[in-house]
Parts: sequence; structure tokens; C-alpha cells
Amino acid sequence: MTERYDHDLTLRAVAQPIYECLRCAFCFDLSWLGPANLCPAYAWGAFESYGARGRIALARALLEGELEYDATVAERVFACTECRACSEHCFKYIDTVAVFARLREDLVARGLIPPGLAAATDDLAETHNLYGEPHERRLAWLKDRSRVDRAASVAFFVGCTPAYVRRSLAHDTYAVLEASGLDFTVLGDEWCCGHPFLAAGQRERAAEVMRHNVEGLRALGVERVIFGCPGCMRTFREDVPAVLGEPLPFEVAHVTEEIARQVEAGRLRFDVYRSGTVVTYHDPCTLGRGLGVYDAPRAIIEAMPGMRLQEMPRHGRDSYCCGAGSFVRYDFSGLTDRTGDERLREAEATGAQVLLTACPACVTQFQQVRGRLGASLQVMDLVSLVRRLGRWR
Ligand code: SF4
Ligand code: SF4
Repeated sequence: MTERYDHDLTLRAVAQPIYECLRCAFCFDLSWLGPANLCPAYAWGAFESYGARGRIALARALLEGELEYDATVAERVFACTECRACSEHCFKYIDTVAVFARLREDLVARGLIPPGLAAATDDLAETHNLYGEPHERRLAWLKDRSRVDRAASVAFFVGCTPAYVRRSLAHDTYAVLEASGLDFTVLGDEWCCGHPFLAAGQRERAAEVMRHNVEGLRALGVERVIFGCPGCMRTFREDVPAVLGEPLPFEVAHVTEEIARQVEAGRLRFDVYRSGTVVTYHDPCTLGRGLGVYDAPRAIIEAMPGMRLQEMPRHGRDSYCCGAGSFVRYDFSGLTDRTGDERLREAEATGAQVLLTACPACVTQFQQVRGRLGASLQVMDLVSLVRRLGRWR
């Protein structure tokens, strides 16, 4: 079989896990265990080739020369939110998303990138942000520049979505870190973390922005970076060392981990929001399965007096994607909308009045879904609630 490999395929680097697949279906069908559907791409596409098992079968056929990369393969590969439900539940512990990443790289090398994602990443290369906004507006939300580019051991990495489209969240995270008494800095020339380039199979472009951010933070003497966006944090922790081939020169933490530490140390307590409020919590894929942070947000919610957490059937490692992952909206808006609708309905069915999450992309997605469905459920980022109710000692 080896002699039939196409040596131009980066896919070859993941041949071993591809051949380890047992075709057991744990990655997309857990109906015998309880919550049946964990793969939003399979639920939307309704063909096996949209799920991990089918995509791995495609990868094997590509390796063996039984199939060639074409527009249909590209559609199957890019219609995926990279939510990691498949790798989390794989019976053989296959890093399915790493296989998908190689498929994306091979497709892009052949010009088979979906048009929306191609245009977005071309804009990103020019403007250093995902929204095509002028780079000089990145810190427009921040009036007081006294912390910008100041040498400090802690940095706040803002991220594109809070910087440009959810500025209230950038404000809230900044205010929470300030109220915590942390001496922190903000990188004046922050660029996108590079995740969109990796999602688009563009490793070289990703390496350039990663190097820029790492060097900027290193020059400020930063030892720990705090993120409001778990997608950015996952990119730094998992992808930057792999792409640059060197360990990160600083630690990373999500803002909910920092807040939970303060709660545990007795330095932060909360006012009552509304007594008897029922909330549910959506685990962002990047924060939960991507980074293993499940407890910190729940510890914060449980420390809020008068609030009761009602979990959705699919939560923790079994959580369901919000539909916004991996920038699928650019080319597969039906996948984004269907997934978001299903998840918001699941949240509503808990009887909660508030849907909390801890990710700018998830909040943005759920706000849009809520508006489209006319739902009464409130949607909030947990950090915004902490800013509103927190009392620091
Ligand atoms: S769970 Fe893992 S081993 Fe089983 S079919 Fe899916 S990818 Fe293959
Ligand atoms: S990453 Fe998520 S959307 Fe993509 S195949 Fe796996 S479970 Fe499905």
C-alpha cells in the first residue's frame, strides 16, 4: 500500500491515525448512550461523509489514490465547525481534527478553498483582523491608553471579535481585570491570533501572525497572558508551539480561570442578580473540549447568590456546538443557523431565563439566533455578568 502514496499530500503525515479508524461510529452517533447527536456537520449534511468517520474514509481513499481532491471533497471537509465532539468521543482516541487540518492544507494547495473563507483570509492578511476593519481601529474601544505597551508580567489579549464587534465585552473583560488589582498590559500592535488562517489551511500566513504576537508580548516582559476569547487561547496554547516549533515563552489562562481563582481565594463575591434566576451554561467548544476548562465557569455561577444552574442534556465534554466554529458561516450559513437554532432550543427547554457562555463568538452567534427566533431567553457572557455583580475586596 505504501508505494501508492502521493508524496505531495500533507495528509500522509497523519496516515497512521487514518488507518487506526475502526469505523465504529462513536464520533457521530451516541444514540445508544443518551444524547444522540453530537456532530453538527453530520446533522446538517445528512450524509456520512460530513461526519468524522466518513471524512476519514475519504482521507484513506485519497491516500490510496482511489479518490482525488475536488470541489465535493472540499465541501465535505470545510463544512465542519471543528467542535471536536468527534475527537473527544473517538473510541481510538484519534485526533480527528488534526486529520481534517491536513485535508484542508492539501485542498488549499490545489486551490480548493471555499470562496467566502478565501476572501476573509485575504482581508485578514491585509488588515490583521477578521472583519476587514482598519487595523488602527483595533483599540478604538479603549480610551485610557495608560496600559498599552507597558512592561508588565501579565497581558490581556483582546482578540478580533471583542476588539471590533463586541466591544462591550472587551470593556467588561478589561474592567474585571482592573478590578482584580492585576498589573497588566495590552499589546498596542495586537494582530489576529492566526486561527482563521489555520482553519483555511494557510500555515505560512498563520506562522507570520503568531510570530508577530509572540515577539510583541515577549518584548513587554510578559509571563502570563489572559484571554477573554477561548479560541485565541487555544490557538496560542496548542497551535502556536506546533506551527512555530518552539514552546510558548509565557503561560496562558482564560479570564474565567482567573475569576474562579479570586472567588476561591475569597477576594470576590457577588451581588444578587435576581433572586430565583435559573441560568444554563453553554460550554464553548474551544474552552471545554479545546482547553479542558469546564469547572471554572460553573464555580463562578455557583458563587452567585440566588442563581440556580440548570444544565442542558448535552453539556461538559458532551456539549453541542453553537454553530459558529471554524468560520463556517462564510460558506455554509445553513450549517451555522441550523446548529445555533438547535442549541438555543435546547437551552430554552431547560426553563432557564438566561443562557450564559464564556466566548465572544458563541455570544455573538446566540444573540443572532435569539433575534431570528424571537426567543425570550437572555444571552450573556459570564464575564459581563461578573463585571455587573462583582464586589472585590
Ligand atoms: S470514533 Fe474514531 S475509530 Fe470510531 S469511526 Fe469515528 S474516527 Fe473511526
Ligand atoms: S469537529 Fe465537530 S462538526 Fe467537525 S466532524 Fe467533528 S463533530 Fe462534526
